[in-house]
Amino acid sequence: MKVRLASVFLFVASLLIFVSSLPAQDLGPHFKKIKEGIFVYAANPLSSNVSIILTQEGVVLIDSGVDPLASHAVMKAVKQLTSQPIRFLINTEPHNDHTTGHFVFSPPAIIVAAQGASESMTKAYDPKRIEKLSAQSPEMREAFQGYRLITPHVEYKDKMTLHLGERTFELMHLKDVHSESDTAIWLPKERVLFSAGAAIVKSYNNLRPFVSIPAILSALKMMKSLNPEVVVTGHGPPGTTKIFDDTERFYTLLLERVERMVREGKSLDQIKQELKMPEYDDWGRKERFPNNIEAAYRAVKGN
Ligand SMILES: [Zn+2]
Repeated sequence: MKVRLASVFLFVASLLIFVSSLPAQDLGPHFKKIKEGIFVYAANPLSSNVSIILTQEGVVLIDSGVDPLASHAVMKAVKQLTSQPIRFLINTEPHNDHTTGHFVFSPPAIIVAAQGASESMTKAYDPKRIEKLSAQSPEMREAFQGYRLITPHVEYKDKMTLHLGERTFELMHLKDVHSESDTAIWLPKERVLFSAGAAIVKSYNNLRPFVSIPAILSALKMMKSLNPEVVVTGHGPPGTTKIFDDTERFYTLLLERVERMVREGKSLDQIKQELKMPEYDDWGRKERFPNNIEAAYRAVKGN
């Protein structure tokens, strides 16, 4: 009896190992396996990332996709990877390109976010936007079946630790870096960091009026000090802390140039007209450059 139990156990264990070692290409071209049991999905190269993290006690997702079509693609992949439920869905930010698809996963997933996420999502909720998005294609309309706004069930203040199965997730509230509620997630054993909207790969970020460049720089410094092996930003392909170095260099140069022009007595409007950053010609979303200059101006002026 003992032998039989042991062999059943071995069989189940080998099945589990087989299932979790399924290569990411079997999930489709938009999925990347970054570590054993950790996958990143983006519907297209610029859209928000969704991460799937398998544990012995169920699945943790990070964000729910750029739209519900993306969410359903992720759901399909999760079902291919495991028969276990999605237990938690952690939001890196409340913006709709990370949260519209929550209804696809919850229930049963418990949505977790930093303080301020529910308020931000409720304020930004616009049924007209949902209708417009649904009208994009019959597939999109189908993907919106059962839609409802789902705001986080749990909001934490500064830090939170989540233990599930063999994994630990350290959630850190990053303040004034991108949205009203940004969360970086650190997996210390795996040395994987999900760095939220504090930096994006080769693109100008949207620096809203409450965003502070010094806050971004100190968040990047703090995250670099964790010494991660893999960095997954809110948007863009997974990489290393080089993403932080590039972002840091950009903001440092921007601050230097704006500071010099302020010293020369130039107004914000003049700076906006004259300032050039030719080193970053290959970066995307240049329409955001003016709000980057405004943020640098606020930092230089000390407000
Ligand atoms: Zn955002």
